[in-house]
Amino acid sequence: MPTTDRIAPYLRQIDENRWYTNQGPLCNALQQRLGAFWGLDAMQVALVTNATTGLTLALQAHNIRPGTRCLMPSWTFTASAAAVMGANLVPHFVDVCPTTWVPDPTQIEQLAQAEDVGAIFIVAPFGAPLDLALWDGVAERTGRPVIIDAAAAFDTLRHNGPMRPGRSTVVVSLHATKIFGIGEGGAVLTHDPALAEHVRTLARFGFCGSRSSLFPSMNAKISEYTAAVGLAGLDCWDETRARWQHITDLYQQALPASMMLPPDFGNGWVSATLTVITPTDAQDAIQHLAAHGVQTVSWWGTGCHTQPAYANCPSEPLPVTRTYGQRSIGLPFWQDLTAGQITRVCALLNEGS
Ligand SMILES: *Cc1c(COP(=O)(O)O)cnc(C)c1O
Repeated sequence: MPTTDRIAPYLRQIDENRWYTNQGPLCNALQQRLGAFWGLDAMQVALVTNATTGLTLALQAHNIRPGTRCLMPSWTFTASAAAVMGANLVPHFVDVCPTTWVPDPTQIEQLAQAEDVGAIFIVAPFGAPLDLALWDGVAERTGRPVIIDAAAAFDTLRHNGPMRPGRSTVVVSLHATKIFGIGEGGAVLTHDPALAEHVRTLARFGFCGSRSSLFPSMNAKISEYTAAVGLAGLDCWDETRARWQHITDLYQQALPASMMLPPDFGNGWVSATLTVITPTDAQDAIQHLAAHGVQTVSWWGTGCHTQPAYANCPSEPLPVTRTYGQRSIGLPFWQDLTAGQITRVCALLNEGS
């Protein structure tokens, strides 16, 4: 996160503007600069309080019939299922392919033929790039909107980066744990300025040019203070990214060959977590690391279908999700890790698995 010194000039602007929230000048500037970063016009971006809310609003903006099923992977962060339920849809879990960590588009296309499937929800796994043109094709052929949960893909989506937004709506998280954090925040990206405006309308009580609520809606606006953090973060993004790239490179050199990385990891994109899949059950390695004072985290747990809140949702068989849930480890990953610390983590991982 940017330091206080970097944020302070923007806070002084807020004092001068006396504009504190509700699409103020700093929010507009952030929308503009983030749009340029992703190769989009400012009007193709809607800033919201977090990605979970952004995903719910993106689904709502597509006018999907309430109560219909939404095809989605179980191999994702639990917030994905929360966002789908928040849009009054029923998560229907589908397995992922072992190499892409994403559902098989052919299987999705077949399942989407059912009359009561209203939408398709696809996740860019840990920020890894997806072929969005392929998912646009699925949306076109099935007539079902595809929403892309690209929560961890801030950098992957950059202008000239490895994943370009297509016609499907894309949502990025700006949470502090992600690669570009503003504390709490999210962005909805769409080629369609009218859809972005619809999302902004849904995020401000359904107001659009008057104080009349045109839609059932909510309050998901960001304040000028949040925008100040974002603008300060963009000012130092190049340095921040270089530090993440360095940590990424060090891990790639030191990791045992038996560890599977997220698809295309570090190949033209960086993210703020590193989840590896171990060759067998990860418990031994996790305990070995813990015994030597190295904490790990299971970002996605054992899949959404094992969360008590979503255990009763309809599901296809999930053999890959089950296996990956048992074999995944989120390794220590932060900007000022030293080469020595990374070597030590990787040596412990080698001994423990
Ligand atoms: C982080 C994350 C979210 C939630 O993002 P918030 O901004 O914290 O709401 C949703 N989906 C995935 C895949 C994530 O990694």
